[in-house]
Amino acid sequence: MSTPATLIADDLLRTQLHIAGGWRDGSAGESSPVIDPATGETVAEVAVATPDDMVAAIDAAQEAFAGWSRTPAPQRSRILRRWYELIVERADDLAQLLTAEQGKPLAEARGEILYGAGFIEWFAEEAKRLYGEVIPTNNPDRRMMTIRSAVGVTAAITPWNFPCAMILRKAAPALAAGCSMIIKPAEETPLSALALAALAQEAGIPAGVLSVVTGSGPRLGEVLTRDERVRTISFTGSTEVGRILMAQSAGTLKRLALELGGNAPLIVFDDADLDNAVKGAMDSKFRNAGQTCVCANRIFVQDGIHDAFVEALGREMAKLRVGDGREPGTTQGPLISPAAVDKVRRHIDDARDKGARVVQGGDLTERGRTFFTPTLIVDASPDMLLAREETFGPLAPVIRFSTEEEAIRMANDTEFGLAGYFFSRDIGRITRVSEALEVGVVGVNTGLISYEGAPFGGVKQSGIGREGSRHGIEEYTDLKYICIEGVA
Ligand code: ADP
Repeated sequence: MSTPATLIADDLLRTQLHIAGGWRDGSAGESSPVIDPATGETVAEVAVATPDDMVAAIDAAQEAFAGWSRTPAPQRSRILRRWYELIVERADDLAQLLTAEQGKPLAEARGEILYGAGFIEWFAEEAKRLYGEVIPTNNPDRRMMTIRSAVGVTAAITPWNFPCAMILRKAAPALAAGCSMIIKPAEETPLSALALAALAQEAGIPAGVLSVVTGSGPRLGEVLTRDERVRTISFTGSTEVGRILMAQSAGTLKRLALELGGNAPLIVFDDADLDNAVKGAMDSKFRNAGQTCVCANRIFVQDGIHDAFVEALGREMAKLRVGDGREPGTTQGPLISPAAVDKVRRHIDDARDKGARVVQGGDLTERGRTFFTPTLIVDASPDMLLAREETFGPLAPVIRFSTEEEAIRMANDTEFGLAGYFFSRDIGRITRVSEALEVGVVGVNTGLISYEGAPFGGVKQSGIGREGSRHGIEEYTDLKYICIEGVA
């Protein structure tokens, strides 16, 4: 066990499955280590569920659904609110846990927890406003209306880069709508999920309404997709796995919300405010060491501002402090694994081979292992791997361009379409480029766009559906039309 584990509050360090309101080992008795990405040491051993354990969770979720969906919305709302308050109260403890399993700096971990909790606060309110409508009738003897009813059992399959927020932005609308939910967190980061479940239980969320089942994605995903009782699966992760889930769900006609990969363009036009553009690029590129699906993956810079931007960006990048997320002053933690380091390296080597120049960084820091130096590349081009795939690391590649048309064409030249950013002070250009970018989320003069009240999601191969905002609850409800005759 690594020493930092001693900093983790005992009541939140859960290592068993949370099913039907209880805590139990996997029925095959297996467990799997959670590795601290900063040290390579084991933080805890967590239960590995069998397919039968997943079926038990679905059984419990189905049973709990009946009561939870009939609980009046204000009462559900109050219970959710309590969960929100407990998470906020325990934010420091949760941050220790999150940093231990994921690596991001403690301040960022705390920020993620408060951001994630915000979804509960927001959807707790929204539970009370899940309105239907009365339709003007076509017949004096009839009345017509719609209601939104909870779909039933739902599931969330989540990634390791935001172990807390990716869960809460699914669980909050699901529970607010009256659904029960089973969470299958990433194998790398199950501890935050289990701690959130412990707090949900403390808040009074009834047994079976929220379960956490840890273990293999392919094995447990298969059980979830094949079971007719699971009505919605909300997934955040790779496009490849999103496609597998969709194919597997065909047999049970499941509703899927898919938040998949990105390849975000960030465009700096000549008329941008230089300092703000650099700040936006830093925010977007280096949050979570570049391991987010909305990270700027390709930075397009117009001729007139190119050199000044590169110089200013390099200066800001040099200020980043790479280290263990628990050390004071760290602004960039380790990458999640040595395999993640290999991918960044592959992108750098490919770029060099194709004529780009590494002007800063390019390798691990002197700490080695998973600590990568913020890397700046210039003279990058759209044919390089770093522009085709998500790097998921602290690598900022700059691609030069001349005209607005050229920038838009290059920005859209990708199968992905999640986030896009650009910097300009010209209102005409702001309108044109916002409309032309083939993405689900546009940041204009900012690199930070996430907010629980705004809809988040992609187009093209980046996914289907939206999370957050009043639209984010739609995946968890069915629109039911009721026609009453004989009222005249
Ligand atoms: P990443 O590349 O970020 O690890 P993945 O898409 O592989 O993204 O994983 C995201 C989540 O999907 C994890 O919880 C993982 O366990 C799960 N997962 C991986 N493969 C499958 C699968 N075939 N079916 C269902 N879930 C899966």
